Amino acid sequence: MPPVESTRAATRWVTRIIPIILAAAFSYATYAVVAVLCVSFFLAPPTRNTGAAIAILVLYFLLLILTLASYARVILTISFDPGLVPLGPLAIERNRIEKSKPKAAKEAGGLESRAYYAGPDRNPDSPGLELFYTKDVFVCESDGRPKWCSECCNWKTDRVHHSSEIERCVLRMDHFCPWVGGMIGQNSFKFFVQFVCYTCALCGVVLGAAGFVLRHQILNNEELDPRVIAVIILAGFFCFFTFLMSTTSLRYVLLNMTNVDMLGATSKVYQLAVVVPRDARPPTTSALAYPTVTYPLPNLELGLNGEANGPSKHTPATFSDGSGSTDHTSRDALAVRTFAILKTEPGENPWHLGYWRNWKEVMGSNILDWFLPISKSPCISHESHESFYPFGPVLDDVCARYGVSNPIRRGHSGSEMRELLSREAGGQRTT
Ligand SMILES: [Zn+2]
Repeated sequence: MPPVESTRAATRWVTRIIPIILAAAFSYATYAVVAVLCVSFFLAPPTRNTGAAIAILVLYFLLLILTLASYARVILTISFDPGLVPLGPLAIERNRIEKSKPKAAKEAGGLESRAYYAGPDRNPDSPGLELFYTKDVFVCESDGRPKWCSECCNWKTDRVHHSSEIERCVLRMDHFCPWVGGMIGQNSFKFFVQFVCYTCALCGVVLGAAGFVLRHQILNNEELDPRVIAVIILAGFFCFFTFLMSTTSLRYVLLNMTNVDMLGATSKVYQLAVVVPRDARPPTTSALAYPTVTYPLPNLELGLNGEANGPSKHTPATFSDGSGSTDHTSRDALAVRTFAILKTEPGENPWHLGYWRNWKEVMGSNILDWFLPISKSPCISHESHESFYPFGPVLDDVCARYGVSNPIRRGHSGSEMRELLSREAGGQRTT
């Protein structure tokens, strides 16, 4: 698989030059720590402080190894496993046509050379759609369908965003980082956090040791070593920069947010499709009204009206009378699922699970995972029948406001699955 790169030529050049700058900076810092600070100052007379020299060298090289390992892990992840959503069939076909066009036609900038708009797939059997309605909760549009990317022609699962930098949809997208030369997302965020934290700590060690030497030279009226001043400026710049990055990233980890989530976070409203039980009763009069959507979606081209699908004023009771289920086998009936379309209040973060769970979702559940850039974040698993990413207490609040029971609390998918399995087991015994 070719590495994933920015579609912009200028960005590609910047991301190629930055590793050279970083390599030069790390090389100079290593020379300064070993030769200038430890050998020429701490180990030389009159200082002769072997303990301090060993402590600085051990700390420096330990942090350097961890920094370089996490940097390599970030680069490899964003290049070869960045967590992209597969392109839809329409986008694959469009790319194939684009590639087959002569170069002159592309550069002419005519209508044909422009990417055309591809709206949400109207096909009820649209590839990937079943992935959503087999979950209990997912982020949706006002009509109850998942979000659609017109560039990639695919359905966007929760927390997926389209990156114009790499022209692809990215899982739990965070930001495009020129320092590591790629898109930070679900697969690489943990390693990125480790990289900026280790770099900050490394620069802190260098700054502390070099600052001590400079202070000694000033107090003893010795001639100031320009190499010490140079390393202080270098380490100071990177320490300040990575300190800001580290605190911001750690804050996002603890809040279970990304840079993308943060955009307009105080006014952001999430629309959630929440599965409602087939025997649900209408909400109490004090609860808010909500539209519903039933999957599989009707085939609009065959003339079926979309009353049950799209904004309507139905309550769950409308769908609890078994309507439609008489034409289905038990498996089909269980496959028909109705979702209430509920809205969060502005600024609510449905992903906030509590600081400790948020931390473990990204950094891992044991201390080795937190410090070593080896295992990926637990949040990369989307096997759960409940949702793509776990929902926090905000889902309880939203469901309570609308008088809907939280399917994750009531173990809805589990009971349906047990029902299906027991029916199938019973059927097999009788045949
Ligand atoms: Zn996209």
